[in-house]
Amino acid sequence: MSSDDRPDRPAANDARLGRASLGLKFFVPVALVTLLAAALVAAGMLVWQIRDAATDLGSAATGLGVSHDDRHSARLAGSAARLAATAPSREEALRLLQALPGDTEALVVFAPGGTVLLGTPSEEFDAIEPIMAGPLAGGRVAVSSARDAAIELDAIHDAVRQERNELLRTLVLASLVILVASLLIGLLAARTITGNLRRMIADTPRAGPTGAQADRIVNLNSALVGLREELSAMRVARRFLEQVLDQIQEGVLVCEPDGNILEANRAAATLLGREPEELTGENFHEFADQPHPGHDGQLFPEGNARLRTASGESVPVTCTTSDLVQEGKGIRTVVVLRSLAREKQAQKRIRYLTRYDTLTRVPNRMEFQHRLQQALSRARRAGSAAALLYVDVDRFKEINDRLGHPIGDRSLEITARRLVDAMPPDTLVGRLGGDEFAVLLEGVPAGSGARAAVATAARQLLDAIAAEFHVEGHAIMLTASIGITLFPGDGDNVIDLIRNADAAMYHAKQNGGSTYGFYAPEMNADAVERLMLKNELRRAMERNEFQLLYQPKVDLRDGRVAGAEALLRWQHTRRGEVPPSVFIPLAEESSLIFDIGEWVLDQVCTDFSRWQRHVPWPGRVAVNLSLRQLRQGDFVRRIEGIFESHQLPPSCVEFEITESTLADNGEKTLRMLDRLYRLGLHLSIDDFGTGYSSLSSLQHFPIGTLKIDRSFVGDAMERQDSRAIVTAILGLGKSLGMDVVAEGVETVEQAELLKSLGCHYAQGHLFGAGLDPSAYLDLLDAQASGYPMHDTVLGTR
Ligand code: C2E
Ligand code: MG
Ligand code: MG
Repeated sequence: MSSDDRPDRPAANDARLGRASLGLKFFVPVALVTLLAAALVAAGMLVWQIRDAATDLGSAATGLGVSHDDRHSARLAGSAARLAATAPSREEALRLLQALPGDTEALVVFAPGGTVLLGTPSEEFDAIEPIMAGPLAGGRVAVSSARDAAIELDAIHDAVRQERNELLRTLVLASLVILVASLLIGLLAARTITGNLRRMIADTPRAGPTGAQADRIVNLNSALVGLREELSAMRVARRFLEQVLDQIQEGVLVCEPDGNILEANRAAATLLGREPEELTGENFHEFADQPHPGHDGQLFPEGNARLRTASGESVPVTCTTSDLVQEGKGIRTVVVLRSLAREKQAQKRIRYLTRYDTLTRVPNRMEFQHRLQQALSRARRAGSAAALLYVDVDRFKEINDRLGHPIGDRSLEITARRLVDAMPPDTLVGRLGGDEFAVLLEGVPAGSGARAAVATAARQLLDAIAAEFHVEGHAIMLTASIGITLFPGDGDNVIDLIRNADAAMYHAKQNGGSTYGFYAPEMNADAVERLMLKNELRRAMERNEFQLLYQPKVDLRDGRVAGAEALLRWQHTRRGEVPPSVFIPLAEESSLIFDIGEWVLDQVCTDFSRWQRHVPWPGRVAVNLSLRQLRQGDFVRRIEGIFESHQLPPSCVEFEITESTLADNGEKTLRMLDRLYRLGLHLSIDDFGTGYSSLSSLQHFPIGTLKIDRSFVGDAMERQDSRAIVTAILGLGKSLGMDVVAEGVETVEQAELLKSLGCHYAQGHLFGAGLDPSAYLDLLDAQASGYPMHDTVLGTR
């Protein structure tokens, strides 16, 4: 019931009360009267019937008249019975007898007590004992008379009894019906009454009182609720205040003017070596370690002071006080205590954080540079030499990508520790950022011995890093590349030394990593050049400097163009054409490769759509993929989007991946390639034979084509081993049901050799270096008009 319904409840109860009292007033008396009436009627009927039956029985059993006329006999019997019922005296019986009609032959009266009188109008009554036979009730009474009139008394008796029984049954039935009806009425009334009363009882406590009394109670109640809410709000506010105070780093005391402590937060208690509740009631001045100037007028100290802790220790603090007037309670003083020891500690921590790397706990770049600067000054003064080793972990990004950043961080911590431990104590080791560290070797022998000494140290560092370690169950093996600069030869200041060491490190990495290299002046030019190119690559897309060329793929059996490979070109405004072997690795170092890869696919789709409007089937176009593109989480969804936007089926494109892609993270790559394959894309392995893919793994990947690397094709004419590799790849392709394409075919002889070895497809300068989209369409157009381009070259015509 909603609160809105509540005021109606008394009215409802009144109605119920009305109904209940109506029930009491009306139904109960009616039921009782009915019951009484029924009982009276039943009793009356019973009495009447019994009397009637007794009369009949009396007439049957106690009176018997015998006449010539049967009707008369019956009347006589009735008279005799009435006579018998009144237990007549002999005289009365005689008088009756004399009054009987003349033709009455006999009258038999069985008087109560078993006396039987028999008489005729002419005679007096005699006892007829002798002529009676059998018992009176239910038995047979034979009366002998002068007229041989024998009356079957028992027949009359039975009939009477039957009638009586029937009457009794009717009576009992009627009484029962009346009783049941009365009971039902009574029950109904009782139910209605009790139901109403019960509901009233149930509602009564909730309905509450009404009128003025109810108003008073409501007012009282809301006042009580208000009070309770205020109280709990105050409690919450107080608790909140306490929590806030406890969060404050400074000690806070609320004191009365005489120093009596009313409140203390956790920091104040900790400062004084107590519990907060122990402080309340204490006097602040008792904690003062030395008298403060406040004793002459100013009660609480301001500024620096010393307080004594529970253990008797004297602690330096700064005190700030402020007075506030609390309503009705006078002045309260809030004393804020700041521990100077803590402050010093915090300052120390801040200083540490600004100078050290929190993860590896070695100096950060700023601190390293600062200390390097000092070391160079020292070396300069002493005329000694120093060496800077720039250490960069190889492929560290893969650790983060594959195992996650927490394991990556732990690996860096371990690496830093190893660098420190591998060097003599006090060697400066710093983290310059990410996976880059630097080691400063001081007191390096001058002259020709310098290089040998530093090289030994570099090898020690590489060995220390290379030892396997375990993090969260993963066995990790790291290698690093080290670039070395010598002071004073390779730079006389911090900046030059670090930059040159970086360039040397980059070269070491280019040489395969896990090695060290000394700086040479030309390296720096390379590093600068790379950096510039990388920046320009970012702008190449916006400046529209990319272009695609299509190198035809030819079917060696008939010389027809069977498809093409899309090759990316960067036409730099100032530098001219930059080869993909230069800019693709640069793009792969950053996320630029994603944008470039998507641009290539989009462009291929645009060109393919155009060609399709001219020739029925332009041939599948091969697109080179970078490993990094495949690692992009939403790669499949992205390329799906490109095909959809061009309304092209993915089957018009073939993705070329390198062997190393297959070797990388097998399971994940397999899943990715499977998804591409299911999309309808054809997959091929580029530069096959140069990588280290396990041949058995080939069958697990949905690869359709192997492309023989051009180095084998170029050498196949002269070198037996190259020819053997070409033959083996062709055999492998055949047995695995894959197409094989020979790359870099430059001469007719090479083409013929490949053809003779069973190679079906080839591409290379012999058939065209790379055509722009329009030139490739011309080629397709010509072919569609019946001019296969290379049939003469291949002698297939
Ligand atoms: P690739 O996929 O093996 O491409 C074949 C390379 O061989 C191309 O060099 C092509 O110009 C060259 N070539 C073709 N026929 C001959 C020949 O008869 N003789 C000689 N000497 N060379 C021939 P390119 O265009 O410089 O590409 C180099 C590599 O750059 C490609 O090797 C490919 O791995 C990569 N690349 C090219 N375009 C793309 C691209 O769009 N995306 C990605 N990720 N990589 C690309
Ligand atoms: Mg390729
Ligand atoms: Mg290739």
